[in-house]
Amino acid sequence: MLVNINRLEAALKEVNEIGASKGQGITRLAYSSEHWAANEYFIGKCKEEGMTVRIDACGNVIARREGSEPQLPAVTCGSHLDTVQHGGGYDGTLGVIAGLEMIRSLNEKGVVTRNSIELISFACEESARFGVSTIGSKAMAGKLNKESLQKLRDNEGVSFPEALAAVGLDFTHIETARRSEKEIKAFFELHIEQGPLLENSGREVGIATGIAAPIRLEVTIQGKASHSGTTPMNMRQDALIGAAEIITELEKAALEEAEHGTVATAGVCDVHPGAMNVVPDWVSLKIDIRGTVITSRQIIIERLFKLFRGLQKRRGLQIEARILSDEKPVVLDKYTVRLLSSLCEAQGIAYLNMMSGAGHDAMNMASICPTGLIFIPSRDGVSHHKDEYSSIAQIAKGAALLEEVVLRCAEEVQIKPSGTFKNNMDRSKHHESRKTKSII
Ligand SMILES: [Zn+2]
Repeated sequence: MLVNINRLEAALKEVNEIGASKGQGITRLAYSSEHWAANEYFIGKCKEEGMTVRIDACGNVIARREGSEPQLPAVTCGSHLDTVQHGGGYDGTLGVIAGLEMIRSLNEKGVVTRNSIELISFACEESARFGVSTIGSKAMAGKLNKESLQKLRDNEGVSFPEALAAVGLDFTHIETARRSEKEIKAFFELHIEQGPLLENSGREVGIATGIAAPIRLEVTIQGKASHSGTTPMNMRQDALIGAAEIITELEKAALEEAEHGTVATAGVCDVHPGAMNVVPDWVSLKIDIRGTVITSRQIIIERLFKLFRGLQKRRGLQIEARILSDEKPVVLDKYTVRLLSSLCEAQGIAYLNMMSGAGHDAMNMASICPTGLIFIPSRDGVSHHKDEYSSIAQIAKGAALLEEVVLRCAEEVQIKPSGTFKNNMDRSKHHESRKTKSII
C-alpha cells in the first residue's frame, strides 16, 4: 500500500474545520461560501501536487494528473465536499480526500501511469439546499433538465442560477459540463456505507453491484368524519385505519422481497382533521419503494393496489394513488465489480457485494463509463449526522483499494532500474517531472 494514512487523516481533519460548528457537525451546503472554501482548499492541495485544475460550468472541480499518454481517456475518481445541514465529516469528503492522498502517494513514489488520472469534487451532491441531489454528476453525464433547474430555489429564496453566480459560475453555460464517453475510461467512488450492513456482517469493504432507485407514490384515503364517542365501531369509515393496513401491508410485501434487497417506507402521513374526538376522514401517505430489481418493486406496488380495492369494499374508503417519481435503478459494470472483488481477495480484505440503498454521483457516472463504488463501514449505520464515524483503520482499507483499482486501470508504467521506461516511447519529459515531484 502506498497511501500514507496519517497524512490522509490530517487532511480530513483540516478540510473538516471548514463549516464546522462546535457540537453541531459540519454544514457546507452546495455552492455556499463554506462549500467553496473546501473546494479552494482542495484546489490548493492539488496544485501543490502539480495537477492542473479546472472548474466546469456546474461547479465540479476537476484536478488532473497527466499520464504518459495524455490523449488516452482519463481514469477518474472522486466524490463531494458539500454536506447536509449539520452533517458529518465523512460523507463525500472521504472520497475526495482519499483521492488526494492517492495522488500524493503516487507523486512521492514517482509512479507514472499511462492514462491520466482525474480527481473530481462534484458539485451539489446533497439535495439539502435545492431538493435535488447529484446535480454536478448529472451535468457531467448530460442528464440535467435545465428548465426545472432554473426554477429551483433554496429556503432563503435564492435561485439555482443565483447560487451559481455567487461562486462565479454562469448558469447559461451549464450544459458545457457534459463529458464525452470518449474522455473517461472509468470512474471510482469511495464512500461511507451510511447503513449498517458492513458493520453487522463484519466485512471491511462493500462493493456495490447496483444503486437502488426509488419509485414514490402518494396515496390519499377518503373516509367519513364522525364523532368518536357516538359512532359504533362497525359503522365507521376511518381513513387512518385504512392507512394503517396499507403501511403494514407495505412492510409485509417488502419483507417478502428482501432477497432482492428491496425496501419500502411510508415516511409521511397527514391525518385530518387530527382531533382526538373525531374519526379521521382523510389521510395522505407518502411511500418510497427502493431496489435494484424493477420487477421486485413492481410486485410490492401490485400488492398495494390489490389492497386498495379490498379496502374500498370492506371499509367504504375511496383510495387514490399517484406516482410521484419512478427512477430507474442502476446496475454497475460487472467487470468492474469483479475487478474490485478480486483486488480485495488479493489484499486479504473481507468484502461484501451489496447494493447501494442511497444515491451517489457514481450512479450518474455509470451512464458514461464503467463505474465502481466502494463502501467502508459506518459506525451504527449513522450518516447525515455529526456522529457519523468510520475508523482510520477502516478508511485505510478503502483508500488502499481505491488506489489499487485506479492504478490498475490507469496502468502503471514500469520503470527499469536504470530509470528508463520499458515502453519504447520517449518519456524522458515525464521522467523529469516525476523526479521533480518526488523531491518536493
Ligand atoms: Zn455522499
